[in-house]
Amino acid sequence: MESLNKSPSDTKVTPPHADHSKTDTYMPNLMNTYLPLPVTFVRGEGVWLWDEEGKRYLDALAGVAVCGLGHCHPELVKAICQQAGTLIHTSNLYHIGKQEQLASRLALLSGMDNAFFCNSGAEANEAAIKLARLYGHGKNIDLPTIIVMEKSFHGRTMATLTASGNRKVQAGFEPLLTGFARVPYNDLEAVAQVGVHNKSVVAILVEPYQGEGGVNVPQANYLQGLRHICDQNGWLLMLDEVQCGIGRSGNWFAFQHSCITPDVITLAKGLGSGVAIGACLAKGTAAKVFKPGNHASTFGGNPLACTAALTTLKVIEDQDLLRNAMEQGDFMRSMFKAELAGLPDLVQIRGQGLMIGIELSRPCGELVKTALKKGLLVNVTSDKVVRLLPPLVIQRSEAEQVVSILSGIVKDFLAT
Ligand SMILES: *Cc1c(COP(=O)(O)O)cnc(C)c1O
Repeated sequence: MESLNKSPSDTKVTPPHADHSKTDTYMPNLMNTYLPLPVTFVRGEGVWLWDEEGKRYLDALAGVAVCGLGHCHPELVKAICQQAGTLIHTSNLYHIGKQEQLASRLALLSGMDNAFFCNSGAEANEAAIKLARLYGHGKNIDLPTIIVMEKSFHGRTMATLTASGNRKVQAGFEPLLTGFARVPYNDLEAVAQVGVHNKSVVAILVEPYQGEGGVNVPQANYLQGLRHICDQNGWLLMLDEVQCGIGRSGNWFAFQHSCITPDVITLAKGLGSGVAIGACLAKGTAAKVFKPGNHASTFGGNPLACTAALTTLKVIEDQDLLRNAMEQGDFMRSMFKAELAGLPDLVQIRGQGLMIGIELSRPCGELVKTALKKGLLVNVTSDKVVRLLPPLVIQRSEAEQVVSILSGIVKDFLAT
């Protein structure tokens, strides 16, 4: 073993990690699943992030609706550190006190009866899909069907990408699953029609506010209409609140802007403020579907993740962040309307709470890079919709900065 006698300086081999310059030839040892922007953040505080060169950015995306408390909220950091030094993981073979506390807290806030914990939005929806199928089999429906929407997004696992109404996430992964029927979002008649022809329907899965699909908002009485159809047919109403839940809409849950109660709610993104946790909540009959052995997760609901979630809920309540999300969101939408009104290529400014979409009449993905250069983090979804998902802690002066920088960028873009 000659090489063992050589000191590192004798070897001519360049270590694969040596070149950290961001040139076109630099390829990290990562699967080619993302196209990251040319920036690496190294520190965060509140609505601010800093890159390696010390440049500061105003984060109006919050890790895609994850960091509701802003970055590194001191109360969250303290709680996580304390829990990490006490107990991180034991498994669901044993009682987990923090998990039971979190389930009870979420039940109180949502009106649901019980919770299953997992680690992501896709897994939360997988749980809901399995729950609906089991519910169907319990009614002797052998091939249960779940109604899903066009432009929806439910995740990247096989069941959830099948449920998603976006060909881009499905293409190349066929065969997809069976057991889904798709209708346009905001179309109650189409839902009712599926029920007339397909006697195997067991549930509807819908985002109350569509996120990835372009920040699409429900028409008045849409959720009430879905609730009514579900009640008439014995279907479960399952709401994917992975993006719009946990304060983002200005209520704990987006469905609370309507006067309905769903049977199932799925959560993830904002629940743990960056510590991975997902949840599937259920009420009534739906809450009694799973029996021991039907479903499980190794990591799901461990003490560390549940502590992050309990602290997130506590800070949202203590700091009145639901009201703040509502007020700053309304403020930002009205200020955007004032700034951008009359531009011929502006289609619509919409959203709820701190879920904000600005639809333009043409693809505008390049705006993301322009904003990045100016120290602002935003996102474009569905090609033409600039999407903002700021931290729930955003203050008025910061909201003003977001609107002023982004309005300038949008005006420049539309002028070219
Ligand atoms: C992000 C998202 C998901 C998927 O969540 P992951 O944690 O990435 O699996 C599911 N549904 C909605 C509405 C989402 O926004």
